[in-house]
Amino acid sequence: MNPEEPFRKILTEAPVPVTDIDIRPLAEIYAEKNVYLSVYLPVGGRENEHPNKIFLDSRLKAIKEVVTGELLSDFEKTLEMAEEYIFEPAISGEKGRIIFASSPESFLQVYRLAVEPERSLVLDTSPYLLPLARLRADYEDYGMLLVDSQEARFVCIRSDLAEEREHLSTDLMNKHKKGGWSQMRFNRQRKEAMKSFFTEVAGNVEDTCGKLKTKGLVLAGPGNAKQQLQEMLPEEVRNSILDVIDVPMDIPKDELIESGNSVLQEEELAESNRWAKKFKSEILKGGLAVAGVKNVGQALEQARVNVLLMRRASSVPGWICERCQNLQANATPPVECDRCGGPTSKVNILEEFYELAQRTGADVEFVEEDDFPDQDYVVGALLRY
Ligand SMILES: [Zn+2]
Repeated sequence: MNPEEPFRKILTEAPVPVTDIDIRPLAEIYAEKNVYLSVYLPVGGRENEHPNKIFLDSRLKAIKEVVTGELLSDFEKTLEMAEEYIFEPAISGEKGRIIFASSPESFLQVYRLAVEPERSLVLDTSPYLLPLARLRADYEDYGMLLVDSQEARFVCIRSDLAEEREHLSTDLMNKHKKGGWSQMRFNRQRKEAMKSFFTEVAGNVEDTCGKLKTKGLVLAGPGNAKQQLQEMLPEEVRNSILDVIDVPMDIPKDELIESGNSVLQEEELAESNRWAKKFKSEILKGGLAVAGVKNVGQALEQARVNVLLMRRASSVPGWICERCQNLQANATPPVECDRCGGPTSKVNILEEFYELAQRTGADVEFVEEDDFPDQDYVVGALLRY
């Protein structure tokens, strides 16, 4: 499918969360020839400049050596179109950049990120999405609620970008202390003030969380105010709490993000483990699951996959027919497709699986290598039927 307007040209001027990139329509795009250039670069810090240059020079040279005729002139035009975005220095806060470009399709998308992707440059029949998919798995959006007995701040962390959503503040220490009050009366007043403060925060958090699609909530702050608040939160919000952590209220923003990220990382590992267990038990009882490249490929083609499980760091070489999408793993591409005679090209089977999963509405989960029951399984699938 060809890309449609206005999706053909997207240029971001400030870093965006990876979850803001609309991956579904990107997965719908493909052409019969290798006309899509995809570039992933870490751009934060001067230490990336030199390795980026070496990487780009060698990849561009390698492509120019194998591409000929019309494809070569298309590639050169695509490169001309994308060049300034590939080579320009980072803007403030930018740590990574993704560029999808195709001159014949008048297609150019440039995403600036606050996180670092792995270096990659690919010329293919469609935008290369696997690195983006992994980034999205690594950087899910979550909320951080920072609270003590006087103040609460709600921050959304999206791909290392912190967006403050609510600011609630109350001066509990002094507001109710009037001359002549006994200590006991003061304490009672203060307790009531705190209770109404927490109720207000709880309501606000519920509103805020309801509007956001986040992985969950990290509850943070010094002392025991956060536990008191936790008890007052509506059940639904309380269930979305990933962890409760001790940090000072004046924690610098990058340290706040770092401590939140480590909670998320643990959650991510636990989730990988849960998926692997579920997969393993389905396989053992002969239930709704298949394993291995061949079976998973078939199930994807039949749109039977509910959840596609992929080993985190892996690639499987193979080929695809650009006309009928015939997909073969671990084989050198023949000149013509054995099914329809169409043109074939070399692919990473996992990239093709990812795109098929997107097109058929299957979820994709990355599983840690150690969690997969058999080291030979690179992919597995939980089936719809
Ligand atoms: Zn074919």
